[in-house]
Amino acid sequence: MTYDENNIFAKILRGEIPTQKIYEDSYALAFPDINPQAAVHVLIIPKGKYVSIADFGATASPEEITGFYRALSAVAKLLNIEESGYRVICNSGPDSHQLVPHFHAHILGGEKMGHLFVTAG
Ligand code: 5GP
Repeated sequence: MTYDENNIFAKILRGEIPTQKIYEDSYALAFPDINPQAAVHVLIIPKGKYVSIADFGATASPEEITGFYRALSAVAKLLNIEESGYRVICNSGPDSHQLVPHFHAHILGGEKMGHLFVTAG
């Protein structure tokens, strides 16, 4: 799948769509999900142009992969959910309902959540 330069998160990265920056470094940007599904619902995206977690894992440099995971941990700490716990979801491809074709991880927490589910909704 080729990267679509006009996806929403590419526009956020370019500053064409405003967002509240929760965390930013040279590898990643974190911002609140516009339609939160938990008390805390933040999205974190790599700065590079990767369509999905599969694309990221297969083609990003070791520095980008390390930088992204370090940023994710830093964001959980910043959000004060490191101790209480949180869930990370990366939707990838049609069965997962991935809507935005720029790799992103959902960081969910701030409340007790149900266990994993796989039913269609
Ligand atoms: P996906 O289904 O691709 O894993 O999740 C995409 C997420 O992006 C959804 O949870 C949706 O609410 C969020 N989203 C879509 N458009 C925007 C936007 O313009 N700004 C922000 N902050 N989040 C968005």
